[in-house]
Amino acid sequence: MRARNRDNFSAAVKRVAAQRVAYRCSSPACDRVTLGPDASIADATVSIGKAAHIHAASPGGPRFNKTQTPAERASLANALWLCSNCATMIDVNNGASFPPKRLKQWKIEAEARASKELQTGQIELHVPAFLRNYIYINYINTPRLQFFVTDADRQSPVFAETKNGFPDGNMIWHLAHLGDIVANLHVGAVDLQDLFPLSEDFIGSVLSVNEMFYTKNGVLPGRDDHKNIVENFDPKKSPHIYLKLGGFKVISPYDPRWVTTSTAFSSFRGGRERFAGLFVLKSIDFEQQEMFLSPLVMGLPIPPGMEGFYKRSFA
Ligand SMILES: [Zn+2]
Repeated sequence: MRARNRDNFSAAVKRVAAQRVAYRCSSPACDRVTLGPDASIADATVSIGKAAHIHAASPGGPRFNKTQTPAERASLANALWLCSNCATMIDVNNGASFPPKRLKQWKIEAEARASKELQTGQIELHVPAFLRNYIYINYINTPRLQFFVTDADRQSPVFAETKNGFPDGNMIWHLAHLGDIVANLHVGAVDLQDLFPLSEDFIGSVLSVNEMFYTKNGVLPGRDDHKNIVENFDPKKSPHIYLKLGGFKVISPYDPRWVTTSTAFSSFRGGRERFAGLFVLKSIDFEQQEMFLSPLVMGLPIPPGMEGFYKRSFA
């Protein structure tokens, strides 16, 4: 596509888009500063920020909307300030994983965060937004999560102290350590609701989930008759959670070994429970209208209206 067919942002639109979020990346899981001093040149600055198009600047681009006028395409309302990593991420697969609805929400929330910080002078607690939404992390699939750990994570001193990569027990410690890993994964995650209409292209995707589930066959801690529970899944016996969505039964078997605490077992035996977390889409059976997830991290989300209370208890 030739440059003159693109409805690019003017310098003024880019500047205002950046300033309205205080030059921070608008991705809720990232939120990083995008402007600072050049480490080697005394009078220079470095910017890693970009004004990304919510709807593409030209036909065929990610989330292109043919009903927009060229002026709308180049307008501030269509600009989302991101770091260069997140700007690349949202356009992978021609933007399939990041629908416009979600990006518009990011923009609203990022501006609200900047506004709050401006008014109160208080920087938001440095826990990634995704983890801030939990009361408890009930489930950490240690082996599967380690598959997603980067070299940088492994080099962290905290990580090096632990035998298997992740500590047991102390959940606050877990939160501090898991934060970056989970936040990075969440940036690339697809909303479960956004999977529909379902396509095989989504298999292997990391999913962001916050839904009411039915729980089935929850087992008590300390029982060891649940080996291979996930590999040899039997809906009559195996522990799992499920819900109906988009005409499909969404099933997530879980391995009781990765339930984090003995009290957490009660949420998996609760009959009905809201869980939020990151899952991997393992398979889809179009004939049976079933899809299988594998949970990476799962927890009880904060009930609506209770955010303030739980934020205090984290601090
Ligand atoms: Zn970012």
